[in-house]
Amino acid sequence: MTTRARDTLPTHDVLNQPPERGDIDLWTSDPVLQGCVNRAKGRVDPLAAYGRALGTAQTQEAARDANRNAPELRLFDTGGRRLDEVRFHPAYHQLILLSQSAGYAALPWDSQPGGHATHAAMVYMASQIEPGHCCPLTMTYAAVPVLKADANIAQRWVPKLTAHTYDPAIQPIAQKHGATLGMAMTEKQGGSDIRANTTTAVRDGDQWRLRGHKWFCSAPMSDGFLTLAQAPGGLTCFLVPRWLEGERNAIHLMRLKDKLGNRANASAEIEYHDALAYQLGDEGAGIRTILEMVHHTRLDTAMAPAGLMRAALSSAHHWVCHRSAFQRRLIDQPLMCAVLSDLILDWEGALTLGMRVAQAFDGQTPENRAFARISVALAKFLNNKRCPVVVVEAMEVLGGMGYVEDTPLPLLYREAPLNGIWEGSGNVICLDILRTLAREPLASEVLQAELEIARGTDRAYDAALQAYRAQWPGLPSEPEARWFAERTALLLTASLLLRNAPSAVADGFIATRLTGDNGRVPGSVRGLDTDALLARLG
Ligand SMILES: Cc1cc2nc3c(=O)[nH]c(=O)nc-3n(C[C@H](O)[C@H](O)[C@H](O)COP(=O)(O)OP(=O)(O)OC[C@H]3O[C@@H](n4cnc5c(N)ncnc54)[C@H](O)[C@@H]3O)c2cc1C
Repeated sequence: MTTRARDTLPTHDVLNQPPERGDIDLWTSDPVLQGCVNRAKGRVDPLAAYGRALGTAQTQEAARDANRNAPELRLFDTGGRRLDEVRFHPAYHQLILLSQSAGYAALPWDSQPGGHATHAAMVYMASQIEPGHCCPLTMTYAAVPVLKADANIAQRWVPKLTAHTYDPAIQPIAQKHGATLGMAMTEKQGGSDIRANTTTAVRDGDQWRLRGHKWFCSAPMSDGFLTLAQAPGGLTCFLVPRWLEGERNAIHLMRLKDKLGNRANASAEIEYHDALAYQLGDEGAGIRTILEMVHHTRLDTAMAPAGLMRAALSSAHHWVCHRSAFQRRLIDQPLMCAVLSDLILDWEGALTLGMRVAQAFDGQTPENRAFARISVALAKFLNNKRCPVVVVEAMEVLGGMGYVEDTPLPLLYREAPLNGIWEGSGNVICLDILRTLAREPLASEVLQAELEIARGTDRAYDAALQAYRAQWPGLPSEPEARWFAERTALLLTASLLLRNAPSAVADGFIATRLTGDNGRVPGSVRGLDTDALLARLG
């Protein structure tokens, strides 16, 4: 127990300021998460332990240190020899160790049920405290199925990536206890259009040599990168190890991006100077091969915004419970309750949808795989479009202090747009949704089936579904792709809420997002059961 801060000061007493939050158990304090995990058959014990450890005041302080002490590029040693390293604050390493030890990247691949659902819930909780360190771990998680495509590589790498530990040593993989993996796809001239990549691959015995640049490469201290390069047979996927036996692979770090947010994590521009690489998948099949990784990173980018929204709303709720204005607590002011209730619908919708997607990742049937493919894109799109709106409004709930770095809101605000940009920006995702539905009849079938399950339980939902089907009897034209994606994702969320959430949530969601007459800014709603909705925050 720490001694209380002094609140009687020479000029005034400190009054009407919310107390410090101290330890927050991210698991026990979030009954909506527990319900989602339960339905998705996630594993409670590791989540309970992780949620407790993440939310301690000490871990919150580590998160703050990791963000305020930016990673530093160390290109050369004192003598001018190339290092190509990034130095991080110790708090960053501490956070990665905490998450890796909990099984963030490992649990989905240990053959026990519910691994992806458990992982997704971890992403949600970690994003509430320090989203930057999630980036390398998400890529580590997502790379595993790609590496498994090659038995030799899988044997050497997968046990290290799924080791429940973290080993930042600068050593080849064979000498390490644990390892992390990054992904270097994006080039200057191509970006989303990875077919335009110009990095070349030339055979060198059983291996390859890569030459070219990558414009974005997050987590440049990873032990290897999945990357794309043009081989004689076409765009091919490669694994580029960072450290070789006795030397550094020829990966030159050029500079670190000066980013809006995600500050604890380093994102670099890099060059391959005939770097050694191992082929993964067939020559010429690079996009198909690396898309398996992208599919899995998209699960995390669909879950993280739910975590960011949760953290913002949890802070806002704490604030309004302890702050009064005009002689009344903010939580007792009807307009404040309307605003918060509207935001709560976004958060609970995002969490419920994300965890349903994660459950499909755990499924083994073709139907589950098809549902995972289409629903992850829908969830990534909708959840990330709502996230910045929710975070900005939650910031305003704290008044001026929401804009001040003493509270978590500025970090959440900087982070809020990011998951909508990487791993497929909004338009790219919407076009992807159309492509999947056009090419995969099963994806379309399972999506419609999921919408159909809730039909007959609520008249407003039925009317919205009917209107949607009348508006788009087939696929929409390209300019309507966003409208279509938004509507589909909203209906999918509503279908899940109708089956799994109290009526205040499901009815409120449908009335404000699918049918009713409300404005475009948050809180311009009427008729919500605000007491029931505020209680959802736990
Ligand atoms: C912090 C950060 C870290 C990153 N880390 C990595 C990393 O580790 N590895 C990696 O490979 N990449 C990384 N990226 C890159 C990221 O994945 C790309 O920036 C993203 O995929 C978009 O590509 P781009 O920037 O080239 O934009 P562009 O491809 O130029 O797209 C610009 C805009 O045009 C839209 N658009 C594209 N095509 C169409 C179309 N046909 N119709 C309509 N609109 C379209 C897009 O949606 C986007 O809004 C990172 C990015 C950031 C911000």
